[in-house]
Amino acid sequence: MINLTLKQLSAMLAQKQLSSVELTQSCLERIARLDPGLNAFVTVDAEKSLAQARAADALIAAGRAQPLTGIPVAHKDIFCAKGWRTSCGSKMLANFVSPYDAHVVEKLNAAGAVLLGKTNMDEFAMGSSTETCFFGPVRNPWDRARVPGGSSGGSAAAVAARMAPAAIGTDTGGSIRQPAALSGICGLKPTYGVVSRYGMIAFASSLDQGGPMAKSAEDLALMLNAMAGFDARDSTSLERPAEDYTAQLELPLQGLRIGVPKEYFGAGLCADVAAAVEAALAQFERLGATRISISLPNSGLSVPAYYVIAPAEASSNLSRFDGVRYGYRAPEYANLADMYCKSRAQGFGAEVKRRILIGTYVLSHGYYDAYYLKAQKIRRLIAQDFAAAYRQCDLILGPTSPSVAFALGAKSSDPVQMYLIDIYTVAANLAGLPAMSIPCGFGEGGMPVGLQLAGNYFAEAKMLNAAHQYQLATDWHLRQPAGTE
Ligand code: GLN
Repeated sequence: MINLTLKQLSAMLAQKQLSSVELTQSCLERIARLDPGLNAFVTVDAEKSLAQARAADALIAAGRAQPLTGIPVAHKDIFCAKGWRTSCGSKMLANFVSPYDAHVVEKLNAAGAVLLGKTNMDEFAMGSSTETCFFGPVRNPWDRARVPGGSSGGSAAAVAARMAPAAIGTDTGGSIRQPAALSGICGLKPTYGVVSRYGMIAFASSLDQGGPMAKSAEDLALMLNAMAGFDARDSTSLERPAEDYTAQLELPLQGLRIGVPKEYFGAGLCADVAAAVEAALAQFERLGATRISISLPNSGLSVPAYYVIAPAEASSNLSRFDGVRYGYRAPEYANLADMYCKSRAQGFGAEVKRRILIGTYVLSHGYYDAYYLKAQKIRRLIAQDFAAAYRQCDLILGPTSPSVAFALGAKSSDPVQMYLIDIYTVAANLAGLPAMSIPCGFGEGGMPVGLQLAGNYFAEAKMLNAAHQYQLATDWHLRQPAGTE
């Protein structure tokens, strides 16, 4: 049962071969057995989840089921969920119980999905390894001595270890795609504005986007159907007709033009990853796609631009955590200013403080033009590179991450090394474009390799079509880590 797709589980639920209570119970049992060695979940509340499962079973019995009714979904702990602790991986919010639901959570609830638990993450989603969390690092189910990627590493590990059939994450600079790649699952970051950010704790508002994580492209499509949609409470939410992301899955890939940027295959890319991605390209050619060499000339500037813009926005967003309204407050202080200082000094971890300092610096008078404004201009150039590329090709293909998952602790003392591994993912966020990662083989140490498929604005269905056709012809996405049986 643990390897079934959402569609198969949904059919079993509809035919009463399985109840949502049984399915949820079996996920909870797997969490109890496997999670002590992985640390993917921060909060599990069996009573709450089972109550939702019972409600889902009632909907199914009444003939009112939708595709996700009764399906347990793990939520990155950045999504506010009413009555659930929502910590964002931080001591600052370690005791915060949300009084309301994020839009995505409302949508999943309305679809009849079961909230299976809140997953571990880098503190405030700042990181690429899920090691900066207040609740300790997450371990990669393929090798517990390695990181699962980040910042949605808890959601990735939960799906990879088959503790949850699907999960939700957020992607500001790669945090859905990179952990999906390093943990051997699928993840999709939609076009900016497709999924509402309401109730998704803000990191860098112009880059943040929620999205699904699951075992297959088809599962991602079903999840995205339930997550996407206009929400007046997010001023950047897009008002457009609802789209069925499963509608194009079965189309043949004949004539699909796949752009391969030369900048994504240069120095810094590990040979094992390059080989797996090359093999995947050959598979796409066998499926009828044509390969087109393209150039994204400003690719090398995406990490520097991102690490100016993201911290700038974070420094502003995180100013709300001041010990006054909610969140951590220092137990002892002399006066109001001292309370602010001590609460923030004690409540935030090292990486979050580093970002706040960088962000405050690049926004300060005298440096704004040199750093922040310059980064915004580069951001525009990067978007123009993509606009030019999408006049030549339909999708862009490349590696998601330059290497397979690395050892825990290997990069934590060197922030620049950690930032540089975001090289292939941050550009999509800077441009607001959709991109996804799917498994395409194994590399060093038997660790999974991820393939990135990126598209023009609103090309999610086209990307999912390509990924689904690839998955019909290959079985990388069906592999399960040893020791998670
Ligand atoms: N690794 C990137 C960062 O640390 C991206 C994180 C994310 O997408 N949330 O900022």
